[in-house]
Amino acid sequence: MKGTRDLLPAETGLWQRVEDEARRILGAYNFREIRTPILEQTALFARSVGADTDIVTKEMYTFEDRTSESLTLRPEATASVVRAYIEHNLFNEGGIHKLYYIGPMFRRERPQKGRYRQFYQIGAEVLGSDHPTIDAEFLEMLVLFLGRLGLREYNLLLNSVGCPKCRAEYLKVLRQALDKVKDKMCGDCQRRAATNPLRVLDCKVETDQPIIESLPHTLDHLCPECRQHFDRVTGELQQRGIPYQIAPRLVRGLDYYTRTTFEMTSNVLGAQNAFLGGGRYDGLSEMLGGPPTPGFGVAIGEDRLILAVEQTASLKPDDRLDIYVAWMGEGALHPASQLARELRRDGLSVEIGYEPMKLKKSLGIASRLGARFTVIIGEGELTAGRFQVKDMSTGQQEEIEPARVAAVVKEKLQKG
Ligand SMILES: [Zn+2]
Ligand SMILES: [Zn+2]
Repeated sequence: MKGTRDLLPAETGLWQRVEDEARRILGAYNFREIRTPILEQTALFARSVGADTDIVTKEMYTFEDRTSESLTLRPEATASVVRAYIEHNLFNEGGIHKLYYIGPMFRRERPQKGRYRQFYQIGAEVLGSDHPTIDAEFLEMLVLFLGRLGLREYNLLLNSVGCPKCRAEYLKVLRQALDKVKDKMCGDCQRRAATNPLRVLDCKVETDQPIIESLPHTLDHLCPECRQHFDRVTGELQQRGIPYQIAPRLVRGLDYYTRTTFEMTSNVLGAQNAFLGGGRYDGLSEMLGGPPTPGFGVAIGEDRLILAVEQTASLKPDDRLDIYVAWMGEGALHPASQLARELRRDGLSVEIGYEPMKLKKSLGIASRLGARFTVIIGEGELTAGRFQVKDMSTGQQEEIEPARVAAVVKEKLQKG
């Protein structure tokens, strides 16, 4: 199907590696996993993402089920996480909730490099505090995560879109500016100038860009509280040694954002080069009928992140085969199977032939599978009570007692 793909074993090793690193770093910052359904009621996204956004008007997979209820394949998961937070009264527990998710999202976008209609996101949300330190610490976590993946070349873009109070003032100024130029803009922009002018800033139509560049900036119209919040976030980023760039047009294409918005971009990804983005959404819980609950989150485009990791060749998948067990003669099957079972129980990855084979053929299979070691068990080895352990990269062979094979191989693997 257009815009979808199969991820084959040659690729999934790297995906697992990236997800393992994500879980590790999220765990280190005390985030815990939440799993929400892929299907939600359509109204959830219309209310949160915004009725006049590209996502809701053009990109959602929406259909009626057999009872004519309108359902949508989730185009993003922040709305789902906040819905779950409200539905299960997590706010009653008080304090701050730190949640993360990993899974597929669905948007009917034009397929292009690194962009798919079923795409994967690694996302995290902090619910229950509007403190600027949350924003700074969260961005620090992302920087550590990218470091673990070996990604160094990227930019952190930062903006503030203000709160409902200063937004109203800004929208007045923006509408006035748009009145003078909207006739020269695309049809969507002309409509949005009236219905939802902030969305004009998301427009990707090439000829509109110079006009959009000339429009007033949210940062110049923040109320004192929002200004202070933003200054505190940037101040803490400086203290933490995290470089950033101010991006006055960064409003992130969804209606629920307040105050901090951010993206990270990488030059290796070409024109549309953002691979993660997010920000603060202090009003989202109330928009969805919950109690006032400030929030901050990120969605990482996993497909694009992995594209960047592949291009820098910085991370290796963790999917090598440790040992191939080569056995000769029916009498060797039982001791060979027993050894394989013990090695696997010890956490080593092991492959074993299912029929007796000549040694040469077994070694051929072992090297085709990329095994680091081959354990050789023939009549001579059984009589001696010691198996041959062959290092496949050096060709060196050692005689080792069966009970010590796992320990010896592990030690050699650790040495690299
Ligand atoms: Zn404000
Ligand atoms: Zn436009």
